[in-house]
Amino acid sequence: MIVEKIVPAYYDSNVYIINKKILIDAGMTPDYVLPRLEKIVPVSNIELIVLTHAHFDHFGAAPAIIQKSGAQLGIYETEADALKHAEFSSALNFGQACPDLTPDVFYHDGDKIPIGKGENGEEEYLEVIHTPGHTSGCMCLYEKNSKSLFSGDTIFSEGGIGRSDFGNSTPEKMTQSIQKLTTLDIQNLYPGHGSPTHKNAKHSVDLSLKFSERMNP
Ligand SMILES: [Zn+2]
Repeated sequence: MIVEKIVPAYYDSNVYIINKKILIDAGMTPDYVLPRLEKIVPVSNIELIVLTHAHFDHFGAAPAIIQKSGAQLGIYETEADALKHAEFSSALNFGQACPDLTPDVFYHDGDKIPIGKGENGEEEYLEVIHTPGHTSGCMCLYEKNSKSLFSGDTIFSEGGIGRSDFGNSTPEKMTQSIQKLTTLDIQNLYPGHGSPTHKNAKHSVDLSLKFSERMNP
């Protein structure tokens, strides 16, 4: 799996480009994201945008990318309605209206999103892990050959955790969700904000669990 990243502007989420054709989150600001994406891969190559959750800082640039690429949009099934909800999408917080964005693909816990062939010619997948907490339909994505976790805003590097005080947060489920992540063999942690972790990533996830146990007992 090849992972490339657009370093975000302001409050934009990280944008990860997988194997030159799939995006994990899209960032918020089209004028910032599109030219930087174009430097890595022709935008027309993008086939699929997978959103870790329906927050505006993660999907605001998606309509512009879809317009140029015809990419499909995928999101956890129970998160889809929040895309059009001014409060739940946090669009209001950013002083924006919700764009007219309709997902094409709806995910469930355990789904496998094909991303192409690995080094040995075998199919590789991003496995969907439902991690309610930050929002009720948040998901993380795990690629087992490279032991990589894309954690959205559920956990961040160095033991961080996402806020769980939004209208559609489920703080009572946050610790249980992070507990699930601690059972994975993780070498690379790619969070929705801030720097990825490539060293002691498992330790970082364990620290996030401890933090959540204190914050969301
Ligand atoms: Zn978020």
